[in-house]
Amino acid sequence: MTRQNPLSAAYRPGQFDISFEIFPPKTAEGDGALWNSVAPLAAFRPTFISCTYGAGGSTRGRTLELCEQITRRFDVPATAHFTCLGGTVDELREWLTWAGQHGVRNIMALRGDAPAGQADWKQVEGGLSYANELVALIRGEFPQFGIGVAGYPEKHPQAPSLEVDITNLKRKVDAGADAIFTQLFYVNDAFYRFRDRCERAGIRIPIVPGLMPILNFAQIQRITSLCGAELPADLSRRLSEVQDDKDAQFEIGVDFAAEQSLDLRKHGAPGIHFYVLNRSTACERILGALGLSPLVGV
Ligand SMILES: Cc1cc2nc3c(=O)[nH]c(=O)nc-3n(C[C@H](O)[C@H](O)[C@H](O)COP(=O)(O)OP(=O)(O)OC[C@H]3O[C@@H](n4cnc5c(N)ncnc54)[C@H](O)[C@@H]3O)c2cc1C
Repeated sequence: MTRQNPLSAAYRPGQFDISFEIFPPKTAEGDGALWNSVAPLAAFRPTFISCTYGAGGSTRGRTLELCEQITRRFDVPATAHFTCLGGTVDELREWLTWAGQHGVRNIMALRGDAPAGQADWKQVEGGLSYANELVALIRGEFPQFGIGVAGYPEKHPQAPSLEVDITNLKRKVDAGADAIFTQLFYVNDAFYRFRDRCERAGIRIPIVPGLMPILNFAQIQRITSLCGAELPADLSRRLSEVQDDKDAQFEIGVDFAAEQSLDLRKHGAPGIHFYVLNRSTACERILGALGLSPLVGV
């Protein structure tokens, strides 16, 4: 069956598609900074801009509000992240219907995580347990949406092995996902090995690398220790040598991400999904290094 949605139409051979991921700010000041950053990024005409969904549904409405604004203000397709843990299937259907009414074009279909520190937390009765079940629900009942799913070049922290994790990733593909967006990584070889293994497992949809430019060392140490991504020793050493100088850390981060991006494009990546952390400057410079320019007057 041929599907037409912003994801199925993207990542064609010879194309290099970029997308940006933002998160809902918690303050009015954060909102102002967000829109100041989205405006210059939107001028690069990305395939989409996505907005994350707060753990445990904490941004249920906010995610959709921001998606609606992305579409209305910038005429860029919006992707809403959505997690299935913690809701009944009827509640999931209700939110997906609402997403359609807010002009959302794609859903990043995720499982999410149990609330931190709640070891006795139980999935609700009548809910879903894994992202492949959410993909099946969307594909069956909301065929208008493009569907993105998460992939983990260095393995999902809870998976017993990369092989098992890729078998589970294939379930999401078989359920109808259009594209895979990876967890952030700083070792491109990990991505290339993952892509090869996915290929051998029969995964044939685009695998889009997810990159998070390093804005500061302490923050990236926290993030990589949570998600299990390796920080190369040489990069770590260079960042620790300038640990009292945020500007120098930023410069190292931008240069590293620019090199990573150029290498990924050279090795046939279909595009890049940037975790922009609601700040545009690093991405603008990396896109410049890739030879991409913003459209003037957007
Ligand atoms: C691009 C991207 C965007 C994200 N956005 C958000 C966000 O907005 N909000 C948020 O809260 N989190 C977000 N996350 C984090 C994500 O919710 C967590 O990583 C979560 O722990 C797993 O979600 P998943 O969709 O990969 O789950 P799944 O694909 O369901 O996998 C979870 C684990 O279960 C295993 N598994 C999968 N299916 C099965 C099965 N059928 N049977 C047995 N085992 C199985 C997998 O191997 C894996 O270990 C994002 C992650 C990425 C990479």
